[in-house]
Amino acid sequence: MIATEHKATIKGGEFLIKETAASQVFIPEEFSEEQQMIAATCREFLEREIWPRLDEIDHAKSPELIASLMDKAGELGLLGTSVPEEFGGFGMNFNTSMLVTEVTGAGHSFSVALSAHTGIGTLPIVYYGNEEQKAKYLPKLASGEWKAAYCLTEPDSGSDANSGKTRARLSEDGKYYTLNGQKMWITNGGFADLFIVFAKVDDGSGQADKNLSAFLVEKDFGGITMNEPEHKMGIKGSDTRQIFFNDCQVPAENLLSTRGNGFKIAVNILNVGRIKLGVAAVGGAKKVITNAIQYANERQQFGTLISSFGAIKHKLAEMAVKVYACETACYRAGQNIDDLIESLKTNGMSDADAKLKALEQFAIECAMMKVHGSEVLDYVVDEGVQVYGGMGYSADAPMDRAYRDARINRIFEGTNEINRMLTVDMILKRTMKGELDLMGPAMAVVKEIMSIPDFSTEEEEVMFAAEKKVLRNLKKAVLMVAGAAVQKFMMKLSEEQEILMNLADMVIETYVAESVLLRVEKLANAQGDAALQKDLALTYLHEAVEKVNNAGRAAITSFAEGDELRVMLMGLKRFTKIEPLNLKETRRRIADAMIAENKYIF
Ligand SMILES: Cc1cc2nc3c(=O)[nH]c(=O)nc-3n(C[C@H](O)[C@H](O)[C@H](O)COP(=O)(O)OP(=O)(O)OC[C@H]3O[C@@H](n4cnc5c(N)ncnc54)[C@H](O)[C@@H]3O)c2cc1C
Repeated sequence: MIATEHKATIKGGEFLIKETAASQVFIPEEFSEEQQMIAATCREFLEREIWPRLDEIDHAKSPELIASLMDKAGELGLLGTSVPEEFGGFGMNFNTSMLVTEVTGAGHSFSVALSAHTGIGTLPIVYYGNEEQKAKYLPKLASGEWKAAYCLTEPDSGSDANSGKTRARLSEDGKYYTLNGQKMWITNGGFADLFIVFAKVDDGSGQADKNLSAFLVEKDFGGITMNEPEHKMGIKGSDTRQIFFNDCQVPAENLLSTRGNGFKIAVNILNVGRIKLGVAAVGGAKKVITNAIQYANERQQFGTLISSFGAIKHKLAEMAVKVYACETACYRAGQNIDDLIESLKTNGMSDADAKLKALEQFAIECAMMKVHGSEVLDYVVDEGVQVYGGMGYSADAPMDRAYRDARINRIFEGTNEINRMLTVDMILKRTMKGELDLMGPAMAVVKEIMSIPDFSTEEEEVMFAAEKKVLRNLKKAVLMVAGAAVQKFMMKLSEEQEILMNLADMVIETYVAESVLLRVEKLANAQGDAALQKDLALTYLHEAVEKVNNAGRAAITSFAEGDELRVMLMGLKRFTKIEPLNLKETRRRIADAMIAENKYIF
């Protein structure tokens, strides 16, 4: 067992200016026996109930099959992981629920149904419900007796979620709200018993509230109709509907939290959804890698297995490097959330408030992991198709479904563009509010690029000393570009979305590269040998440096000119310097090890 010393010592986004010791991060190798048993239960469930039925699920004419599979998941306790014990769940900590999400993430359409129910469908009540609401609904949702759906999106209100037209009019006697409106893209819509519906309260004056409110709407309240399931590119077995509320009467006590608090609820619940989407993508991607390795170990061309070709090894290794890094960063952030929850509860905060506060604190990391996880998965499925060649294009081989099902992840839970913008926006807002001290370090970087570079090559005798210097420099690159962009555009930076995208990429790559290096340092300290994991970490770091350089250059050249442009480009060059490494060899070692075991092994 590896010694862990992770406590809530870091704030969200603070990794940009603070160094973290390897001993302070949680790494997946630290999952306890009990947690591994939970993961094994989930895996067995997929093997037994889901994977043999993937075709049946995707071609089902009614949502009964997916609903019955949810019932089975409920019997096993998979629906109650995040529900407190007093309400019929298991009250697992955040990283355990992340682990369940990772494993079940390989369940294609089923995993979407599952996460919509356990996440956006159930958590609003866990976090914002009053005692009566929790007692009434949570036991049913935890057992699977009732299924839930989350109704935020409307035909004209997607990314701009607070602009919805659905209205809730309070009756004169104050006893009920009448809901009218149309929701779109509602996962589990066809079989849900409970809908979390977001609408603006209109008290009869004709003027609706500025912000959404959230309502707990039972199917049997009446006034609910829906269209047939949407025909989709992928996740075909996930039931997605347009839902209409026509004079649907909702008792006043079914308002969740307070009037006008719905947008906040929606946003905070999406924080959980985002990081969990990232880790679910990891689970899906691991399965794709194993499939690709097994195919490459069977398919022969030119008289030899295609797994012996360097071009194929490169692909397999790249897939593994990205997935390993993403997994690392997801659980690092997950533990930060758990640590903060514990520390807030120790200081007297209620369980629900502590969870909300912690998720809000790490909202930056949640947004980053959504973007990273969904894009890693898309990379992996794309290369998976390529490893399969023509068979990758066949609907009878597994890559077809993996490829189509992956694509939605860059769209829901906030598109990746929105999450990239949020990442940068939250960092800048926290800096302005004085919650994150980026100003001082950013000024220091400006001074540094105006001074003569430090050519000293002396490094301490610690593991990854040179790589840690590279990481410190990547952070300086982020601060340099962000600082200059803020100075140039001030409040108008939000209109320079291309630059925000570049900055988000720089921040995300820096976070993930740091996470993977810390994981491997901790692992090597504990086990003595982690040669392959070092290959994974170093390969990722080299790629991250290149991406930071590219994104930084794109940003700088888009707004700087003359001397400023030259100085900044020189600074970027300085901050993205890394000793060359034979990455062909690191990748070959990674691929060879997986090929020998005939599966993803990390
Ligand atoms: C299969 C599926 C399941 C879903 N399940 C649910 C569910 O259960 N509940 C629910 O409420 N919703 C659900 N959704 C809706 C989903 O969350 C939205 O589709 C998503 O938030 C994007 O909204 P939109 O489709 O209206 O796209 P739009 O907002 O119209 O975006 C279109 C494009 O414009 C970009 N864009 C939008 N605004 C900006 C901006 N300010 N700056 C730059 N670019 C911008 C987007 O990034 C995107 O590329 C689901 C969607 C799908 C497809």
